[in-house]
Amino acid sequence: MKRVAVLGATGSIGSQAVDVIAASPELELAAASSGSRPIDGIAPETQVGGDPVDLLERIEVDVVLNAVVGFAGVRATLWALERGVDLALANKESLVAAGELALAAWKRGGGRILPVDSEHSAIFQCLEGRDAENVNSVVLTASGGPFRGRSRAELDEATQEEALAHPTWNMGPKITIDSATLANKGLEVIEAHFLFGLPYDRIEVVIQPTSVVHALVRFRDGAALAHLGYPDMRVPISFALNYPDRAPTGVAQLDFASGLVLEFEPVDGQAFPMLGLARRAGEAGGSCACVFNAANEVAVAAFLAGRLSFLGIPEVVEHALDTADGATAENLDDLIAIDARVRRAAERGMALA
Ligand code: MG
Repeated sequence: MKRVAVLGATGSIGSQAVDVIAASPELELAAASSGSRPIDGIAPETQVGGDPVDLLERIEVDVVLNAVVGFAGVRATLWALERGVDLALANKESLVAAGELALAAWKRGGGRILPVDSEHSAIFQCLEGRDAENVNSVVLTASGGPFRGRSRAELDEATQEEALAHPTWNMGPKITIDSATLANKGLEVIEAHFLFGLPYDRIEVVIQPTSVVHALVRFRDGAALAHLGYPDMRVPISFALNYPDRAPTGVAQLDFASGLVLEFEPVDGQAFPMLGLARRAGEAGGSCACVFNAANEVAVAAFLAGRLSFLGIPEVVEHALDTADGATAENLDDLIAIDARVRRAAERGMALA
């Protein structure tokens, strides 16, 4: 019996994880946290609000599933990595913002990161047991979101309602907006860099509109392995929690008889500048990825509150990167200070605009 703590248990990933655990005789929900919604009674130990690390300090678990949204998940990620507790990671922002600190903690702790992000779970599965020297590159797929095919000019009037209507994945509001701007894919490029130890020029992105191909890995002999399945987060959640085993999820097998469309197309970098900005932040190193993430979180919240236009999101992020010094954070307190500074500046900038 594997004991699991689910952090962010009322969100989209968290609640699906709770269902996956409930359906499995091998998994036990030992603890759960939520940001503000009540979760009384769903686990023997629960915590609403506050820092989920306080909950982790009170319990013994085999796996921590971090499904907190945004930078708020950083401390729990570092806590698990430092202690070598298996980390099922859905909170990509923590690995993006705290990349170097997380890598150092991961090395010291010696545990595992089991990616819950569907693309990274797919890459992890394609890479399993293979030597790094055989890998040419990894390819992250993107659905393209609700605005795929639109020009930059056509995105000027993009509304919240349209941005929240994702064509293939059913997700929480933050990641759905990130998918519409392609910031999500940008965060995932940085996430892949830290998870798989690959330079940015060996992490590709391609649009695959039906979200059936979750990722590919290209090998040096010219072969490529792809990971396929219907878009359903229960699969990567189940894989991470049951690793190295697999368990039934209730997700349907691919139906080839009804016709399976696997088209690919390139990303329109003009209409969707967030992907390029993320690459720029990742390649610049230091705290630039933290800056990208913080400015994006503030901009997305403002867009959701009706205070910022859709095209205002990349403007806020670009300005933050232009004005950041990118100094490396030596420790978590440093990082939290940088994150807070970027947020304040971004808020100020939006208020003046
Ligand atoms: Mg993903």
